[in-house]
Amino acid sequence: MFKKILIANRGEIALRIHRACKDMGIKTVAVHSTADENSMHVRLADESVCIGPAIVKDSYLNIPSIISAATIANVDAIHPGVGLLSENAEFAKIVNDHEFIFIGPKQEHIHIMGNKILAKRKAEEIGIPILPGSKGDVKTYQEAVKIAKEIGFPILIKATNGGGGRGIKKVSSIEELKQKFFIAKAESEQSFGSDSVYIEKYLTHPRHIEIQVLSDKFGNVFSLGERDCSIQRRNQKLIEECPSPILNDDERKNISEICVKAMKKLDYENIGTIEFLYQDGEFFFIEMNTRLQVEHPITEMVYGIDLVKEQISVAYGNEVSFIDKNLTVNGHSIECRINAENPESFFPSSGNVRNYHVPGGPGIRIDSGLYNGLKITNYYDGLIAKLIIHGKNREECLLRLNRALLEFVIDGIDTTIPLYQRIIKEEQFLSANYDINWLENL
Ligand code: ADP
Ligand code: ADP
Ligand code: MG
Repeated sequence: MFKKILIANRGEIALRIHRACKDMGIKTVAVHSTADENSMHVRLADESVCIGPAIVKDSYLNIPSIISAATIANVDAIHPGVGLLSENAEFAKIVNDHEFIFIGPKQEHIHIMGNKILAKRKAEEIGIPILPGSKGDVKTYQEAVKIAKEIGFPILIKATNGGGGRGIKKVSSIEELKQKFFIAKAESEQSFGSDSVYIEKYLTHPRHIEIQVLSDKFGNVFSLGERDCSIQRRNQKLIEECPSPILNDDERKNISEICVKAMKKLDYENIGTIEFLYQDGEFFFIEMNTRLQVEHPITEMVYGIDLVKEQISVAYGNEVSFIDKNLTVNGHSIECRINAENPESFFPSSGNVRNYHVPGGPGIRIDSGLYNGLKITNYYDGLIAKLIIHGKNREECLLRLNRALLEFVIDGIDTTIPLYQRIIKEEQFLSANYDINWLENL
């Protein structure tokens, strides 16, 4: 097994990866910006290297600094975490060129899936159902009008290189298309470094349901079921559940089989998530994330496996660990993303954490690097903690979630905890009767 791994990330996910390494007897190297020198991931790692100033471009996205740190610390492998460089094919290539192992899929697959047009084409080719829309990049307004007329309004204009819920624009009429097409292209250029956009049919009342896959270098591919991530705001997930409360066993089995077959055709390695919108009994591919996902813990709770350990182990060259065992699905799990944001305006919040008190008792897991006195800045993503609940069924989960939300205290900054305290009282949430727009209209 690897002796030492560099974790090219920060916050709760860096800590999560550190914990998996410790459970495997692997030494860890943290990298950090000057703003993060007192972070938990830095304090707990066996070694740490400062790789630059607070701004991500100069630290967590600074590839030469990260490679230098890996060389100096003499690590075997690099784990990219989520966000940041995790879906950067160029980074994966540079890591490999320096003879470190990149803990993730092949560069070629990161590249294809990171470009949403190539991803959709590939998905169709390997038998995954896609949404109607443009075949590729939509370059002119005239082309946009033609496609919009073919598929019918409303449509979405999506940035080809978009992510994190950004770069998605809804358009309901020709007049609106005229206004928004050029704005979408300009914004895409500004945010994602390319003005490439494509058009997709807008679904009015879908749920977001995604399939977790895991494969090794021997062609063993597994589906670890689905996660329902329909509680969203601004196209960003806030609450996720495993399993989805609305799928029946046949639907679950069918979509899992489609994904496993597709990943075999692709010769995909390591971990990945295939994201779908599900509406009126049909699944439509929206994108594939070629990395660990924020909401991976709910799958871990229900399937009783450690996805980060699996990732590291298959990257080393082992087979998937549960290959000869029957995977058993155990109960239900729900995750709430606790962000440093105002729970109503969603405006980012900063300050020093005080009175930090986490809930406990049966069925509660907290993934977080928070501690009293930690300074939260606005330089980074607002995710500060994940509250993960496990129970024998959804009912038990909801009761435990309610209990946990009443115990959880984070003072000194605004958090989304009050929002979840509100959601847990809503009849439509309790009865699982919602789509991706529900929270936005609450
Ligand atoms: P997941 O499906 O794992 O929940 P998200 O879409 O929430 O993935 O993204 C994971 C993290 O990466 C989030 O913190 C998100 O803000 C960030 N992220 C992903 N893609 C981008 C991007 N293109 N630009 C900025 N942030 C991004
Ligand atoms: P990102 O890379 O930002 O995660 P996705 O393509 O995964 O982008 O979409 C993010 C969210 O946007 C989805 O979970 C869904 O809520 C919404 N969305 C995306 N495509 C559509 C669509 N065709 N119709 C309706 N909503 C959509
Ligand atoms: Mg997505």
